[in-house]
Amino acid sequence: MAGEPQDDCLFCKIVAGRIPATIVRETETTVAFRDINPQAPTHVLVVPKAHYQNAAALAAAPDLAADLLRETQAVADEEKLESYRTVFNTGSGAGQTVWHVHAHVLGGRGLEWPPG
Ligand code: IMP
Repeated sequence: MAGEPQDDCLFCKIVAGRIPATIVRETETTVAFRDINPQAPTHVLVVPKAHYQNAAALAAAPDLAADLLRETQAVADEEKLESYRTVFNTGSGAGQTVWHVHAHVLGGRGLEWPPG
């Protein structure tokens, strides 16, 4: 069920502290940690503590979605990023590999558009 922790979810395990991660920020509702395979000098993932499988599912919880967006900006501020990219991959065709919604915050280098 949306919002409930999932036993087999990697990011639920990180949220619960059952798998180590380099956590950069934590709020009552969100956790931000460094991507294990960074694609830019700053590559942080921001997740809600509650389990929603992607951004489309998170839209059912708009207050939580707003918390998540606020945290992407807070990460950018802490990392002193003047410009940065926020990415939600939704669906395997778009590159989603972990089925717990996460915002990628990428910055610290020039970023090209369109993405691949
Ligand atoms: P997605 O492809 O948009 O679903 O992004 C998943 C991201 O999670 C990828 O950028 C992975 O490098 C990252 N990732 C996978 N496992 C871990 C981990 O254990 N810690 C931190 N990041 C991870």
